[in-house]
Amino acid sequence: MTNIAASCQCGQLKFEAESDPVLELVCHCRDCQDALQADFANIAFFKMGESQVEGELAEKIYLAESGNETCRQYCVQCDTVMFDRSEGFPNLLGVSVSQLQAPYISRPTCHVFVRDKKAGVVIPDGVKQYETGIT
Ligand SMILES: [Zn+2]
Ligand SMILES: [Zn+2]
Repeated sequence: MTNIAASCQCGQLKFEAESDPVLELVCHCRDCQDALQADFANIAFFKMGESQVEGELAEKIYLAESGNETCRQYCVQCDTVMFDRSEGFPNLLGVSVSQLQAPYISRPTCHVFVRDKKAGVVIPDGVKQYETGIT
């Protein structure tokens, strides 16, 4: 099987996984909007033990509504937000789907924190929607 790989804009920070993500979702929460300076975040979650991170990263901690800390990790050089880690999912590493390289195909199965969704964002039919998180 082909490895799944990602890297930041400048290429210093790298990610590689040996298996497909356990879950891919789109998160509309305010933290994601703030962290990415975007309308939403498209994140794929990989098992820690089956993925590797290489390079220097910096992090910013957010406190989720659940009381869990979530941590955005980004490249120290180009500021690309690459990873998303949550105390709620200690064995999973979230990776920004926009940074994943071909042949990875984005197939988010659910949208979370839909109540914070920006008005102009349209969610495709047939995808699960949650008002808040899924924990
Ligand atoms: Zn970089
Ligand atoms: Zn979020």
